[in-house]
Amino acid sequence: MSEVPLANWNGEEMPLDQARVSVLDRAFLFGDAVYEALRIYEGRAWLCREHMDRFRRSLLEMRIETDVDRLERRMQETISHSGARDGLVYLQVTRGEAARNHAFPDPASVPNELIYVKKYAGDPHLELRAGGCKVITFPDIRWGRRDIKSCNLLGNCFAAQAAAQADCQEAILIAQNGEITEGSHSNVFGVKDGKLLTSPLGNHILPGITRNLVVSLAQRAQIPVVEHPLTRENLDMVDELFLTGTTVEVLPISQVDGKPVGSGHSGAVTDLLFRTYQQAVREWLDREDN
Ligand code: PMP
Repeated sequence: MSEVPLANWNGEEMPLDQARVSVLDRAFLFGDAVYEALRIYEGRAWLCREHMDRFRRSLLEMRIETDVDRLERRMQETISHSGARDGLVYLQVTRGEAARNHAFPDPASVPNELIYVKKYAGDPHLELRAGGCKVITFPDIRWGRRDIKSCNLLGNCFAAQAAAQADCQEAILIAQNGEITEGSHSNVFGVKDGKLLTSPLGNHILPGITRNLVVSLAQRAQIPVVEHPLTRENLDMVDELFLTGTTVEVLPISQVDGKPVGSGHSGAVTDLLFRTYQQAVREWLDREDN
């Protein structure tokens, strides 16, 4: 049995499996909540400011009012009390409990706030790093505000389930116009003739924190970045494909719908970007130590 994560539920620390919520909470009834997930390296939350900025924006778009600075302090405390060196910290704020009506309660309900820390025993994707992961393509059936990190994730769950049933690690989502938006829980990049290609930002994708970092690392490494959507057809022509995300970091894709990508192995650009990512983490940890 793996260890039960340490949670902070509305300011009170407890094992995650002891946190309880009302069936009238709007997250339970409508998925009316927002969340964030941050990677912990050596006991520290990576890209904390960027995640908190996105969290603030999601809350604002959802019109849920809460004190993000207080949550951040609580998050740092929970990480420290958990003793996690390597892991993930999850934050979720729901609109709270109210009689079941679709419109937001007026006056506003009291948000429920969850934080928990999951420990990793090393890199959870280590085995996939050399050979790459397998993905399927799947229709993007989600709503029109995918830029908000909301807990309304049914379209993502359908896609991830289809991937799992196909013995694949991720589903790449294809919009009705044939364009690739993102993965079910990651962003997608292609490499063609030494250039990086990825979907531009907008309402159709989550502005991935790792996506943004990889774009700036690539620019610093003089790799041209074209923020233009890839299409399903492009997938057969790209030299490399990879995923980015808080947990996958930079992960090569070796197969799409059973067909190899490029050489079928992790490509040179993906490898370089993963090494650069690791170096950025290392430099940040060293800076924090000083
Ligand atoms: N897109 C979706 C739909 C996601 O769920 C995630 C994971 N949070 C990402 C992209 C990657 O975002 P990030 O790099 O901020 O983890």
